Amino acid sequence: MKSLWSNKAAKGLSGIDLVVYTSRLIGANTRLVLWGGGNSSIKTKSVDHAGRETKVLWIKGSGSDMRTIAPKNFTPLRLQDLLPLKQRDAMTDEAMVDYQMKSMLDPKAPKPSIETLLHAFLPPAHIYHTHADAICALTDTPNSRKVVREVFGDGVAVIDYTRPGFLLSKRVAQAYEKNPEITGIILDKHGLITFGETAQAAYQMTIKMVSKAERYAAEKLKGNKVMGALQVKGLPVNKRRTLAAAIAPILRGEVSRNKLMVMRYEDDSALLKFIGSEKAKKLTQIGPFTPDHLMHTRPWPLFVDTKNPGDFKVLTQEIRKGLAAYRKRAADYFNRYKPEGVTMLDPNPRVILIPGIGMFSTGKDDRAATIVHDLYMHTFPVIEAATAIQSYRTISLKETCDFEYWPMENFKLSLLPPEKSFSRKVALITGAAGAIGSAIASAFVEAGASVIVTDLAGEKVFALADKLNEAAGSRQAFAIPMDVGNARDVKRGFEAAALAFGGLDIFISNAGIARTASVDALSLNDWETSLRVNATGHLLTSQAALKIMKAQGLGGAIVVVTSKNVLAPGKDFGAYSASKAAQTQLSRIMAIENASVGIRVNMVTPDGIFEGSGLWSESVREERAKAHGISPDKVEAFYAKRNLLQTPILGHDVAEAVLFLASERAAKTTGAILPIDGGLREAFPR
Ligand code: ZN
Repeated sequence: MKSLWSNKAAKGLSGIDLVVYTSRLIGANTRLVLWGGGNSSIKTKSVDHAGRETKVLWIKGSGSDMRTIAPKNFTPLRLQDLLPLKQRDAMTDEAMVDYQMKSMLDPKAPKPSIETLLHAFLPPAHIYHTHADAICALTDTPNSRKVVREVFGDGVAVIDYTRPGFLLSKRVAQAYEKNPEITGIILDKHGLITFGETAQAAYQMTIKMVSKAERYAAEKLKGNKVMGALQVKGLPVNKRRTLAAAIAPILRGEVSRNKLMVMRYEDDSALLKFIGSEKAKKLTQIGPFTPDHLMHTRPWPLFVDTKNPGDFKVLTQEIRKGLAAYRKRAADYFNRYKPEGVTMLDPNPRVILIPGIGMFSTGKDDRAATIVHDLYMHTFPVIEAATAIQSYRTISLKETCDFEYWPMENFKLSLLPPEKSFSRKVALITGAAGAIGSAIASAFVEAGASVIVTDLAGEKVFALADKLNEAAGSRQAFAIPMDVGNARDVKRGFEAAALAFGGLDIFISNAGIARTASVDALSLNDWETSLRVNATGHLLTSQAALKIMKAQGLGGAIVVVTSKNVLAPGKDFGAYSASKAAQTQLSRIMAIENASVGIRVNMVTPDGIFEGSGLWSESVREERAKAHGISPDKVEAFYAKRNLLQTPILGHDVAEAVLFLASERAAKTTGAILPIDGGLREAFPR
């Protein structure tokens, strides 16, 4: 493991700025910490609000991530308040947290880490705590003390597994006092603590110790077939992805029984090799390599016991059978080990391993599913390394349950912002790069949905997804180029869509084109193109969307963007109006056919939208101006004037209506048409 320390970058930094710099170096290495794991601290002198010089412990606050940590994420506490606690014999978590809160120098700072006293009781000025993969591989073994001694000699202390809190803090302090010459403290089945009088020394010690552990594990792994024979080979890439896309909605429906989940798919080759091996079934069921992962991954993944993943029908049965057994095991575990006064968490797995096909991870959104994904991508190499060293062993089931249902750990979840109205939902929008489509897509992203944007191949659809993700600050949009009128494109596109977030709850059929000519002058090509995109495109994409929704069994909402022309056609719009009328009639049939499975189908009929519209090309604008006997630059004003409210129609107006019809607020509405036209008496639905 390489040290990322740079004298040039660290030059001039001191105090908390130096700790931020070093913490970020640690956070940048995923083999040291992942997603909020680990913590760091510094002891300095500060001046308090009354002008008194005070010895202060600055410790990483709850809920921050080392990779992106900033000075504001550290909490200052009075050391002279904390240190006398070392004399106590015991302290409950609640009393300790309350005491820590009262020792804060700045009441507006984040809530201090549960490991605050551990940092306070250790004398060195700089302390780093990580959940390094390689250190955990040494200690996730039955006789971990022997392994640690073999690697580090007597130069380190090992603390038996103890849940973080007062007792662990005392044990760590005692180990240090017993031998202040130690270079680090290893927390059995948990992680590593290093320290020093400078940030650089403490950081370099982390790197040095982890490197040593990595070299030791690599040596043990060399030529060692730890996982036994490869029993199920990864299927060829196209086949496994097609199968994964077919399985994803079924799986999502199953794991969303309590709460809707978003899923992420992974088919990394090392992972496929691991889950296809002889010992994977047994070794994956032991536990997480550090209890810190429990909140995200739960105690075990679902391992689908299959010998022939290529057979879709058999595999589906095996998945359902595996899930039933998983839920039973989760309930038995809870009933046997549950601490007093807690209710059972969702009994569904967060990690699903399918030999030959890969891994699905679940979460409330893509970020949460990615956290689970990243944790497991680090878990399987630790399992392999620990197995090569001795055998893989984690904390006991009782300890696991105690940690999983520990109020201090679950408190972290309460720090998350409240979920948005479309959180956990997946929406797909065709024709998303246009004026209406992009307005709908950004409204869904703002409302918390995971959004798949599709449009014709080209820059635009990817640029839209990039823009949406940048605005959201996380991966909430995914672009799929697709021509809705091309059956092969639609099949491939919806396969990619099923793998993007695991399924589909909302489908917005919005792609469309306008060709203008009077009926006698209409070319056959324009007629057929209009039908191909507006009618056949709607049919093909609706079929694909319905297939995913039905496989999930979670109901769904389809909103079709048709046109004011369906209700009140205009001259020279023959091909457009007729193809849009076909789309509308097909949507009504879809409403009739799918109500029994909880899928609602509704329509909006916007009038002409000019702002950024691809539909209203210059030629259409000129043609419409001619049809209405006005000059082309007056088209907007003409359209705004012709409705009752005398207002232009914007993409945003359509998005508002679409979101309403897709939401639970419209739960009792299907087969309906909602005009977005400022009020046109000739287009009143009847
Ligand atoms: Zn920890």
